Amino acid sequence: MQRLQAYQYELIPDGQQKRDMSRFAGSCRFVYNKALALQKERDEADKQTQFSYTMLANRLPAWKRELAWLKFSPAQTLQQSLKDLERAYANFFAKRAEFPRFKRKGVRDSFRYPQPQQIKLDEANGRIFLPKLGWLRYRNSRNIQGQVRNATVSLRAGRWFVSIQTEREVNKPLPEATSAIGIDVGIARFATLSDSSYLAPLNSFKRHETALKKAQQSMSRKEKFSSNWRKAKRKVQRLHARIGHARHDYLHKATTTISQNHAIVCIEDLQVRNMSKSAAGTSEEPGRNVKAKSGLNKAILDQGWFEFRRQLQYKLDWNGGILIAVPLQNTSRTCPVCGHISKDNRQTQAEFVCVECDYENNADVVGAINILRAGHARFACEVNPEVRDQQQEPAEVIQLGKCLAGRGRNPLVLTRGGCQR
Ligand SMILES: [Zn+2]
Repeated sequence: MQRLQAYQYELIPDGQQKRDMSRFAGSCRFVYNKALALQKERDEADKQTQFSYTMLANRLPAWKRELAWLKFSPAQTLQQSLKDLERAYANFFAKRAEFPRFKRKGVRDSFRYPQPQQIKLDEANGRIFLPKLGWLRYRNSRNIQGQVRNATVSLRAGRWFVSIQTEREVNKPLPEATSAIGIDVGIARFATLSDSSYLAPLNSFKRHETALKKAQQSMSRKEKFSSNWRKAKRKVQRLHARIGHARHDYLHKATTTISQNHAIVCIEDLQVRNMSKSAAGTSEEPGRNVKAKSGLNKAILDQGWFEFRRQLQYKLDWNGGILIAVPLQNTSRTCPVCGHISKDNRQTQAEFVCVECDYENNADVVGAINILRAGHARFACEVNPEVRDQQQEPAEVIQLGKCLAGRGRNPLVLTRGGCQR
């Protein structure tokens, strides 16, 4: 199978290269925003049609004639930002993301070289050749495996990075682990596993929140664009970067551990976009619990669930494991023992007590167990059609759930969570 992997390094550019990179990122942002503005105009006039990438790319030469400075940037990086816009729209329509927004200067400045033939890598000397920038030195922290496919240059907290995407053929891995696990994600605990273990909340943002607020206040008191203002701004950026690094580190450790220890991982199919959307509502339909929800929204974003899922997916792929996403359905209200569904089962946020059979457990663990069971049912009848065809007997499906769910006190529950079709 093909394994795609990205390697990221910090670049060590000289002054001219820094100026050029800022300029390229600026041109890409300009092209993206111009195309988005065109698209928005068109959306207003006629909801049905959209610009395709090709239609937008065909306008590039005219823009370049009009605005000579666009020509300084490598042509392909400009085309790539149109591709990015196309993808942003696709993600929006697939309900994976918000509506595309205009890019702002200093927020995720980046540009991408799509053609491997134009990129030269000299790992022995720690340098990379990129069109119109020449040879750039980078901090070579580890060697690349595989063929280079593309390279993205980005600016974060005043430092430039290159991310090199590679591709290589590897043997289809067989999972070393044999167990299956369900994961319930939450605010009080970042993730609770069906074996009762859990990951503490990340809260990286909270920890740095005070420092960040202070730095932002100090920045707002300075005269804009003065050298003190710039200094304060750098501090804010550094804090943002630190928060990002802490989150990055935490998520990678968590997903690596889980994907190494389990062959099947079941999670709730959370729509991050739905959960984090504005709680304020509209004027006709004002939202309820606005304050609490905005706190929750922030916490959700802070926890990086979407990134957690993305990392789990690719790491399980690499290890030969499987990720199963199950739709959210009473996972926190169903008793794993008798199958009774009621919101009364959950008297408090943390405790689950079944009103029918008195089964007690931590509410998040109950959620994780139910997710695991629903995942098994789904795996048996949908993800793995061979299993389904061979094992027509529902008893088999229940058996599978029973043994893998570990504590399968009452296999009947599985039929309840059963196949969604
Ligand atoms: Zn019960």
